[in-house]
Amino acid sequence: MLAAILPIALLFVLGCCVGSFINVVAYRLPLVDAPTSSGGDWNLAWPPSQCPQCQTPIPPWHNIPMLSYLMLGGRSACCQQPIGRHYFVVEGLCAVMTALIGLVLMTDPWQQTQPALLLNASSLIPLIWGLALHWCLLTLAAMLLRHPQHTLVVWQCLLWLGLLSNLSGAFRALAEAVVAVALCYALGFVLAALVNRFLHKGPSDRLAFFADPLLQATAAALAWFGSAIGWLPIVYVAATLATVATKHVAPQSRAIKKSSALPLGVRRNISGVSQGIVIALLSALWWLNGEPLPLW
Ligand SMILES: [Zn+2]
Repeated sequence: MLAAILPIALLFVLGCCVGSFINVVAYRLPLVDAPTSSGGDWNLAWPPSQCPQCQTPIPPWHNIPMLSYLMLGGRSACCQQPIGRHYFVVEGLCAVMTALIGLVLMTDPWQQTQPALLLNASSLIPLIWGLALHWCLLTLAAMLLRHPQHTLVVWQCLLWLGLLSNLSGAFRALAEAVVAVALCYALGFVLAALVNRFLHKGPSDRLAFFADPLLQATAAALAWFGSAIGWLPIVYVAATLATVATKHVAPQSRAIKKSSALPLGVRRNISGVSQGIVIALLSALWWLNGEPLPLW
Protein backbone atom coordinates (compact mmCIF):
# COMPACT_ATOMS: atom_id res chain seq x y z
CA MET A 1 0.00 0.00 0.00
CA LEU A 2 2.82 2.37 0.94
CA ALA A 3 4.54 1.61 -2.37
CA ALA A 4 1.35 2.78 -4.08
CA ILE A 5 0.80 5.96 -2.07
CA LEU A 6 4.41 7.14 -1.68
CA PRO A 7 5.09 8.06 -5.35
CA ILE A 8 1.80 9.98 -5.51
CA ALA A 9 2.54 11.81 -2.24
CA LEU A 10 6.04 12.68 -3.50
CA LEU A 11 4.57 13.96 -6.76
CA PHE A 12 2.10 16.09 -4.74
CA VAL A 13 4.99 17.69 -2.80
CA LEU A 14 6.98 18.15 -6.03
CA GLY A 15 3.89 19.81 -7.57
CA CYS A 16 3.68 22.23 -4.59
CA CYS A 17 7.31 23.29 -5.10
CA VAL A 18 6.97 23.59 -8.88
CA GLY A 19 3.75 25.62 -8.36
CA SER A 20 5.73 27.99 -6.16
CA PHE A 21 8.35 28.37 -8.91
CA ILE A 22 5.57 28.89 -11.49
CA ASN A 23 4.33 31.82 -9.35
CA VAL A 24 7.83 33.29 -9.46
CA VAL A 25 8.09 32.86 -13.25
CA ALA A 26 4.60 34.29 -13.88
CA TYR A 27 5.33 37.31 -11.69
CA ARG A 28 8.92 37.99 -12.76
CA LEU A 29 9.09 37.06 -16.43
CA PRO A 30 7.31 40.28 -17.53
CA LEU A 31 9.73 42.24 -15.27
CA VAL A 32 12.98 40.64 -16.48
CA ASP A 33 15.53 43.36 -17.32
CA ALA A 34 13.42 46.05 -15.60
CA PRO A 35 15.39 47.92 -12.89
CA THR A 36 14.61 46.92 -9.28
CA SER A 37 14.16 49.42 -6.44
CA SER A 38 17.37 48.14 -4.82
CA GLY A 39 19.47 48.49 -7.99
CA GLY A 40 20.24 45.80 -10.62
CA ASP A 41 17.76 44.19 -12.98
CA TRP A 42 14.97 41.71 -12.29
CA ASN A 43 15.60 38.09 -13.15
CA LEU A 44 14.07 34.81 -11.97
CA ALA A 45 16.45 34.61 -8.98
CA TRP A 46 17.13 38.27 -8.14
CA PRO A 47 16.13 40.07 -6.00
CA PRO A 48 15.33 37.39 -3.35
CA SER A 49 11.63 36.94 -2.44
CA GLN A 50 10.25 40.09 -0.87
CA CYS A 51 6.87 41.41 0.24
CA PRO A 52 5.24 43.16 -2.74
CA GLN A 53 3.70 45.74 -0.35
CA CYS A 54 6.61 46.82 1.87
CA GLN A 55 9.61 45.14 0.14
CA THR A 56 10.68 43.34 3.37
CA PRO A 57 12.69 40.18 2.49
CA ILE A 58 10.59 37.03 3.09
CA PRO A 59 12.39 34.46 5.29
CA PRO A 60 12.48 30.86 3.94
CA TRP A 61 10.10 29.59 6.69
CA HIS A 62 7.46 32.02 5.44
CA ASN A 63 8.04 30.86 1.88
CA ILE A 64 6.94 27.21 2.15
CA PRO A 65 4.51 26.42 -0.69
CA MET A 66 0.85 26.30 0.45
CA LEU A 67 1.70 25.77 4.14
CA SER A 68 2.99 29.31 4.74
CA TYR A 69 -0.14 30.81 3.20
CA LEU A 70 -2.34 28.69 5.49
CA MET A 71 -0.24 29.34 8.60
CA LEU A 72 -0.16 33.10 8.01
CA GLY A 73 -3.91 33.18 7.34
CA GLY A 74 -3.43 34.66 3.88
CA ARG A 75 -1.67 37.80 5.20
CA SER A 76 1.97 38.81 5.02
CA ALA A 77 3.91 38.47 8.31
CA CYS A 78 5.66 41.83 7.86
CA CYS A 79 2.81 44.27 7.20
CA GLN A 80 -0.35 42.15 7.53
CA GLN A 81 -1.44 42.92 3.97
CA PRO A 82 -3.46 40.24 2.15
CA ILE A 83 -1.36 37.85 0.02
CA GLY A 84 -2.88 37.30 -3.44
CA ARG A 85 -5.07 34.18 -3.36
CA HIS A 86 -3.84 33.22 -6.83
CA TYR A 87 -0.43 32.21 -5.38
CA PHE A 88 -2.13 29.58 -3.22
CA VAL A 89 -4.45 28.48 -6.05
CA VAL A 90 -1.55 27.98 -8.50
CA GLU A 91 0.45 25.95 -5.95
CA GLY A 92 -2.56 23.82 -5.03
CA LEU A 93 -3.56 23.29 -8.64
CA CYS A 94 -0.02 22.32 -9.61
CA ALA A 95 0.21 19.85 -6.71
CA VAL A 96 -3.11 18.18 -7.54
CA MET A 97 -2.39 18.13 -11.30
CA THR A 98 1.10 16.65 -10.80
CA ALA A 99 -0.21 13.91 -8.50
CA LEU A 100 -3.14 13.18 -10.83
CA ILE A 101 -0.93 12.87 -13.92
CA GLY A 102 1.34 10.50 -11.99
CA LEU A 103 -1.64 8.46 -10.82
CA VAL A 104 -3.10 8.22 -14.32
CA LEU A 105 0.18 7.18 -15.95
CA MET A 106 1.13 4.73 -13.24
CA THR A 107 -2.20 2.98 -13.57
CA ASP A 108 -1.66 2.97 -17.33
CA PRO A 109 -5.21 3.65 -18.53
CA TRP A 110 -4.19 4.01 -22.17
CA GLN A 111 -2.71 0.53 -22.37
CA GLN A 112 -5.68 -0.86 -20.40
CA THR A 113 -3.48 -3.20 -18.42
CA GLN A 114 -3.98 -3.99 -14.76
CA PRO A 115 -3.28 -1.09 -12.37
CA ALA A 116 0.38 -1.29 -11.40
CA LEU A 117 0.82 1.92 -9.35
CA LEU A 118 4.59 1.66 -9.64
CA LEU A 119 7.03 3.85 -11.44
CA ASN A 120 8.82 2.04 -14.23
CA ALA A 121 10.68 3.01 -17.38
CA SER A 122 7.62 2.74 -19.61
CA SER A 123 5.61 5.19 -17.48
CA LEU A 124 8.51 7.50 -16.59
CA ILE A 125 9.09 9.02 -20.05
CA PRO A 126 5.38 9.83 -20.64
CA LEU A 127 5.27 11.17 -17.06
CA ILE A 128 8.13 13.59 -17.77
CA TRP A 129 6.48 14.87 -20.96
CA GLY A 130 3.05 15.08 -19.34
CA LEU A 131 4.40 17.07 -16.41
CA ALA A 132 6.55 19.34 -18.61
CA LEU A 133 3.53 20.12 -20.78
CA HIS A 134 1.18 20.84 -17.87
CA TRP A 135 3.70 22.88 -15.86
CA CYS A 136 4.26 25.09 -18.92
CA LEU A 137 0.50 25.36 -19.49
CA LEU A 138 -0.08 26.36 -15.87
CA THR A 139 2.66 29.00 -16.13
CA LEU A 140 0.96 30.38 -19.24
CA ALA A 141 -2.47 30.35 -17.56
CA ALA A 142 -1.03 32.18 -14.53
CA MET A 143 0.49 34.83 -16.81
CA LEU A 144 -2.51 35.20 -19.06
CA LEU A 145 -4.76 37.19 -16.73
CA ARG A 146 -2.33 40.10 -16.37
CA HIS A 147 0.43 39.70 -18.94
CA PRO A 148 -0.93 37.99 -22.09
CA GLN A 149 1.67 39.76 -24.23
CA HIS A 150 4.64 38.41 -22.21
CA THR A 151 3.99 34.71 -22.79
CA LEU A 152 6.19 34.41 -25.88
CA VAL A 153 9.20 32.79 -24.18
CA VAL A 154 7.08 30.12 -22.48
CA TRP A 155 5.30 29.24 -25.74
CA GLN A 156 8.67 28.89 -27.46
CA CYS A 157 9.89 26.56 -24.68
CA LEU A 158 6.70 24.55 -25.16
CA LEU A 159 7.29 24.37 -28.92
CA TRP A 160 10.75 22.86 -28.44
CA LEU A 161 9.49 20.48 -25.76
CA GLY A 162 6.80 19.31 -28.20
CA LEU A 163 9.35 18.64 -30.94
CA LEU A 164 11.65 16.85 -28.47
CA SER A 165 8.78 14.69 -27.18
CA ASN A 166 8.07 13.66 -30.77
CA LEU A 167 11.71 12.62 -31.35
CA SER A 168 10.49 9.31 -29.99
CA GLY A 169 7.06 9.76 -31.58
CA ALA A 170 5.29 10.38 -28.25
CA PHE A 171 2.20 11.78 -29.99
CA ARG A 172 3.07 12.33 -33.66
CA ALA A 173 5.87 11.46 -36.07
CA LEU A 174 8.60 14.11 -35.77
CA ALA A 175 8.43 14.88 -39.51
CA GLU A 176 4.70 15.62 -39.23
CA ALA A 177 5.26 17.94 -36.27
CA VAL A 178 8.14 19.82 -37.96
CA VAL A 179 6.19 20.33 -41.21
CA ALA A 180 3.12 21.53 -39.24
CA VAL A 181 5.23 24.12 -37.36
CA ALA A 182 6.93 25.30 -40.57
CA LEU A 183 3.56 25.69 -42.35
CA CYS A 184 2.24 27.63 -39.34
CA TYR A 185 5.12 30.10 -39.54
CA ALA A 186 4.62 30.45 -43.30
CA LEU A 187 0.94 31.19 -42.66
CA GLY A 188 1.90 33.81 -40.06
CA PHE A 189 4.28 35.47 -42.52
CA VAL A 190 1.67 35.59 -45.32
CA LEU A 191 -1.03 36.88 -42.97
CA ALA A 192 1.27 39.60 -41.60
CA ALA A 193 2.20 40.64 -45.15
CA LEU A 194 -1.49 40.87 -46.15
CA VAL A 195 -2.47 42.80 -43.00
CA ASN A 196 0.45 45.21 -43.51
CA ARG A 197 -0.42 45.64 -47.19
CA PHE A 198 -4.16 46.19 -46.90
CA LEU A 199 -5.07 47.16 -43.32
CA HIS A 200 -2.18 48.93 -41.60
CA LYS A 201 -1.64 52.61 -42.10
CA GLY A 202 1.85 54.01 -41.76
CA PRO A 203 5.16 52.21 -41.19
CA SER A 204 5.11 48.72 -39.70
CA ASP A 205 7.64 46.18 -38.51
CA ARG A 206 7.41 43.35 -41.02
CA LEU A 207 8.96 40.79 -38.69
CA ALA A 208 6.71 41.66 -35.72
CA PHE A 209 4.45 38.72 -36.61
CA PHE A 210 7.14 36.42 -35.24
CA ALA A 211 6.74 37.97 -31.77
CA ASP A 212 2.97 37.37 -31.73
CA PRO A 213 2.23 35.06 -28.74
CA LEU A 214 -0.81 33.59 -30.53
CA LEU A 215 1.31 32.52 -33.53
CA GLN A 216 3.81 30.90 -31.15
CA ALA A 217 0.94 29.26 -29.23
CA THR A 218 -0.43 27.77 -32.46
CA ALA A 219 3.03 26.59 -33.53
CA ALA A 220 3.67 25.05 -30.07
CA ALA A 221 0.36 23.18 -30.18
CA LEU A 222 1.16 21.81 -33.65
CA ALA A 223 4.64 20.75 -32.44
CA TRP A 224 2.96 18.51 -29.85
CA PHE A 225 -0.06 17.19 -31.71
CA GLY A 226 0.40 17.94 -35.42
CA SER A 227 -2.54 17.03 -37.62
CA ALA A 228 -4.82 16.26 -34.64
CA ILE A 229 -5.36 20.03 -34.50
CA GLY A 230 -4.71 20.93 -38.13
CA TRP A 231 -7.70 23.29 -37.92
CA LEU A 232 -6.05 25.41 -35.21
CA PRO A 233 -4.34 27.80 -37.71
CA ILE A 234 -7.86 28.88 -38.77
CA VAL A 235 -8.47 30.03 -35.17
CA TYR A 236 -5.16 31.90 -35.31
CA VAL A 237 -6.11 33.69 -38.55
CA ALA A 238 -9.61 34.55 -37.23
CA ALA A 239 -8.25 35.86 -33.91
CA THR A 240 -5.55 37.93 -35.66
CA LEU A 241 -8.06 39.50 -38.04
CA ALA A 242 -10.47 40.16 -35.14
CA THR A 243 -7.67 41.85 -33.17
CA VAL A 244 -6.75 44.01 -36.16
CA ALA A 245 -10.44 44.88 -36.74
CA THR A 246 -11.10 45.87 -33.09
CA LYS A 247 -7.94 47.99 -33.05
CA HIS A 248 -9.27 49.87 -36.07
CA VAL A 249 -12.84 50.48 -34.88
CA ALA A 250 -12.47 50.69 -31.07
CA PRO A 251 -12.69 52.76 -28.97
CA GLN A 252 -14.31 55.48 -31.08
CA SER A 253 -17.15 53.35 -32.38
CA ARG A 254 -20.27 53.85 -30.29
CA ALA A 255 -21.99 50.94 -32.01
CA ILE A 256 -19.41 48.51 -30.68
CA LYS A 257 -19.63 49.92 -27.16
CA LYS A 258 -23.41 49.55 -27.13
CA SER A 259 -23.74 46.22 -28.84
CA SER A 260 -20.90 44.29 -27.24
CA ALA A 261 -21.98 42.11 -24.35
CA LEU A 262 -18.38 40.99 -23.72
CA PRO A 263 -16.47 42.49 -20.77
CA LEU A 264 -14.05 45.23 -21.79
CA GLY A 265 -10.97 43.17 -20.87
CA VAL A 266 -12.07 40.33 -23.14
CA ARG A 267 -12.82 42.64 -26.06
CA ARG A 268 -9.48 44.37 -25.66
CA ASN A 269 -7.57 41.14 -25.60
CA ILE A 270 -8.70 38.57 -28.12
CA SER A 271 -5.14 37.25 -28.18
CA GLY A 272 -5.27 36.47 -24.46
CA VAL A 273 -8.58 34.62 -24.77
CA SER A 274 -7.33 32.71 -27.83
CA GLN A 275 -4.19 31.68 -25.95
CA GLY A 276 -6.44 30.43 -23.14
CA ILE A 277 -8.29 28.26 -25.67
CA VAL A 278 -4.98 26.80 -26.92
CA ILE A 279 -3.98 26.02 -23.31
CA ALA A 280 -7.24 24.15 -22.66
CA LEU A 281 -6.96 22.37 -26.01
CA LEU A 282 -3.40 21.16 -25.38
CA SER A 283 -4.30 19.79 -21.97
CA ALA A 284 -7.43 18.08 -23.36
CA LEU A 285 -5.41 16.48 -26.16
CA TRP A 286 -2.85 15.15 -23.70
CA TRP A 287 -5.60 13.52 -21.66
CA LEU A 288 -6.94 12.01 -24.91
CA ASN A 289 -3.41 10.72 -25.68
CA GLY A 290 -3.18 12.87 -28.81
CA GLU A 291 -6.35 11.49 -30.39
CA PRO A 292 -8.04 14.10 -32.62
CA LEU A 293 -10.95 15.92 -30.98
CA PRO A 294 -14.34 15.22 -32.56
CA LEU A 295 -14.37 18.78 -33.96
CA TRP A 296 -12.89 18.03 -37.34
ZN1 LIG B 1 5.03 43.53 3.90
